[in-house]
Amino acid sequence: MAEFEIKLSELEQGGKDFDLPLDPAWLDRALDLPDLHADPETKGRVRFYASLSGNDVVVNGRVKTAVIAPCARCLADTRIAVDTDLIGLFSRKSDARALPPELELTPEDLDRETYSGDTVSLDGLVREQIVLEVPMQVHCREDCPGLAVPEHVRGPATLTEGPVVDGKPIDPRLAPLLELSRGALSKGADATRASDAAPPEPSKKNKKRAI
Ligand SMILES: [Zn+2]
Repeated sequence: MAEFEIKLSELEQGGKDFDLPLDPAWLDRALDLPDLHADPETKGRVRFYASLSGNDVVVNGRVKTAVIAPCARCLADTRIAVDTDLIGLFSRKSDARALPPELELTPEDLDRETYSGDTVSLDGLVREQIVLEVPMQVHCREDCPGLAVPEHVRGPATLTEGPVVDGKPIDPRLAPLLELSRGALSKGADATRASDAAPPEPSKKNKKRAI
């Protein structure tokens, strides 16, 4: 039996409001994903209005719950609050099959769910809406620095702490460039001093050309 079920007979007299508990144990089983679990502390709710439109069942409501996923940077369990739309259109299975082939892939039909018999299960729709609310990259907090690197694999401080020039810290990755430019400057200064001390004699070749 489905967790969230509508009997068609309930809707025959008109639309009806539903307000159902979302049990974290059910959600955990329904999610069935290695990195996404229900928050056991959060008792969720599934509230919706359902009505019949011909043989179609129209559902409009909201899902409130919370799930737990690992932070992409530090792997800490991170709670993600979910408060999202629950909107669905369920067609009776035989009616859905009867759609002409050229209509099968319209966006409307892709959103269309099916039911058979005299009950509609919302379980798949509820699960889908919750999974869609989980970001691709979960972060425990915006500025999560990630896992701390143990000292013995961090390497020498020169790799992580840059030199300070004129009171401004330099990116450690650029430190070798700084060394290079300092070297080039001092060599250039040496060369200037040398040329001041002893201006080079014009070569014989140059003398000849001058004549
Ligand atoms: Zn984190």
